[in-house]
Amino acid sequence: MIRLLFLVTGIIVLSQSSHAIEFNKYHNLKFIQKYLTEVAERYDHISYKYLGRSVMGREIGLLEMTKSKSRNAPVIYINSTHHGNEQSATEAALGIIDYFARFHDRPNINRFLKRYRILIHPVVNPDGFVKGSRFAVGGIDPNRDYPHPRNNEGTFRLPETRLVSKVLAENRVVGSLTLHSGIEAILWPWCFSDKKSPHEWEFKTIGRAVAETMGIKLFIQSYHDYQSEGEYIDYAYMKYGTYALTVEVDGVPKAKAEKLPEIVRKSVAGTIAFIQSLDQILLRNEVPKRKEISTAH
Ligand SMILES: [Zn+2]
Repeated sequence: MIRLLFLVTGIIVLSQSSHAIEFNKYHNLKFIQKYLTEVAERYDHISYKYLGRSVMGREIGLLEMTKSKSRNAPVIYINSTHHGNEQSATEAALGIIDYFARFHDRPNINRFLKRYRILIHPVVNPDGFVKGSRFAVGGIDPNRDYPHPRNNEGTFRLPETRLVSKVLAENRVVGSLTLHSGIEAILWPWCFSDKKSPHEWEFKTIGRAVAETMGIKLFIQSYHDYQSEGEYIDYAYMKYGTYALTVEVDGVPKAKAEKLPEIVRKSVAGTIAFIQSLDQILLRNEVPKRKEISTAH
């Protein structure tokens, strides 16, 4: 009898935890991993994809959300937590998953899911996340580990960034957001150079739409916020012509837990604005050609 009760209670707990997250506290890696597999089991339009392991052997995976039957459907790829201490950005990614899971029948979300394959990779750097550190093992900054147009050496030292590059290589990623937290800003390529990219107008159009929706004042080419080499957005744009933007969701890496519902709300709204704006840009233009980008810097 005791055993039966335990069983029944267990099922109730499982069914409650499988489809909702309360954003009143930070979630640990064990919870996140469990949530990803449970939400994929619960919803027909969601599947969990195992990507690989971190330096310390921690599992890294992402969710695919789509109602498209076509494997060639264009892909929107959202990743978060390159920097393990920026845990407001991790919660933002979980919030986006939660929204696109529970509200998949709302007209705009339903339309996005029919048109795109949406990939959400909430924890790029689980080793840093567990330690609350910006860096991966060996003190390597994952968001300085990518090639850019003037540097191809000493990059992809980490399995974590190689897994990100695999996602880009294996999918037709037309738009991407990489979530961070530490300032409030929307940033786009180039990071390594002060030269405008050939798609400055498109980046600015999309970046403004996201920033205004999120109530963020700073939207600018990344270099003009701070110059840096080896960032994800430069690589995704350089190599695949992806409209890739950095979204810095809050002014500090780990905001007070009371602020999480607001961070999640504006990150969801910003993601919806991003897809809407990207849709408009893609109606006007083809995806940028690699040649066009590589000859212009
Ligand atoms: Zn960061």
